[in-house]
Amino acid sequence: MKIICIGRNYVNHAKELGNAITSEPVFFLKPDTAISPKGHPFFIPDFTSNVHYEIELVIKINRLGKHIEEGFAHKYYQEIGLGIDFTARDVQEEVKAKGLPWEKAKGFDGSAVISRSFIPKEELDLNNIDFTLEKNGDTVQVGNSKDMLFNFDKIITYISQFYTLKIGDLIYTGTPAGVGQVNNGDILKGFIGTQKMFEVKVR
Ligand code: ZN
Repeated sequence: MKIICIGRNYVNHAKELGNAITSEPVFFLKPDTAISPKGHPFFIPDFTSNVHYEIELVIKINRLGKHIEEGFAHKYYQEIGLGIDFTARDVQEEVKAKGLPWEKAKGFDGSAVISRSFIPKEELDLNNIDFTLEKNGDTVQVGNSKDMLFNFDKIITYISQFYTLKIGDLIYTGTPAGVGQVNNGDILKGFIGTQKMFEVKVR
């Protein structure tokens, strides 16, 4: 399976990092080894001194497809989950400044937290999904899928022009404003609505 991540999909987050809004989705990949084993803590890697959390809604692909038309995109996913796209922000700033790929800052082991469970899309209003991230009991990020520049179907249509989507692939759909640094001892909890989707300890 592969992990595809969308960047700059929320205007308020693009602005907080000083990034321009793009007319097409920005995307990058994480390797499957980025998936954090369920229930394991997140270990801050040695090569960075500034890891940021990014809470994101995650699409789980349930059907093989390429060149998917927008009108059919909804047939390629059944469930929505929640994850964190951990980012070594200092490393990302460095590679961005040099015009290099982001993978070094985005694809390291444990950088993709994913919820244990996914929510069937019939139980959600896909264009109005509230999600939040709590750090040590304080709400640090609040998002709603209605604020995405590219919705789930548009993302699938776009990505599938370049890559064949396979069953089990995960698409992280971008983070809203409020990203910030994690430190040893932090506890992160992700919610869709009021439903707790995951809890991660930072080490
Ligand atoms: Zn992200």
